[in-house]
Amino acid sequence: MSMEDLYQEIILDHYRKPHNRAPTLEDEAVHVHHSNPLCGDEMDLRIRVAEGHLDAVVFDGEGCSISQASASAMTDATKGRELKDALDLAEDFRLMMHGEEPARADDLGDGIAFTGVAKFPVRVKCALLGWMALKDAIETYERGSSAHTVTHEE
Ligand code: ZN
Repeated sequence: MSMEDLYQEIILDHYRKPHNRAPTLEDEAVHVHHSNPLCGDEMDLRIRVAEGHLDAVVFDGEGCSISQASASAMTDATKGRELKDALDLAEDFRLMMHGEEPARADDLGDGIAFTGVAKFPVRVKCALLGWMALKDAIETYERGSSAHTVTHEE
């Protein structure tokens, strides 16, 4: 099996059996809604924070397989991390989507499987949706706010 096939397999697996997918979260600190109208992707992301860590990260949404699978992989990679650390990892994923070699490949977990998406500019926003929602959720939390809606226009 080639690396590309393996990555494809990982993506499909997250799409079929998403991790940390839930429509609600007990004691949520922040709920953000992000959409990517270009593709029709919708994403609700909720975080719970305990002692500066992401105690829980759940998403719910609909859209293409890349957007949903990437959000699932993102929750695995970021849950339990310190907020600052999770932001740093989100930035690493963003840079990878712009063709850079990720500095924290191991920490990205299954997120690394999306590296090939960088070659398809129209899908980059799909892969980034969950990660950018997480970044927004953490920044919203740090501002002392609890909800936010963002539409990623082209
Ligand atoms: Zn999409």
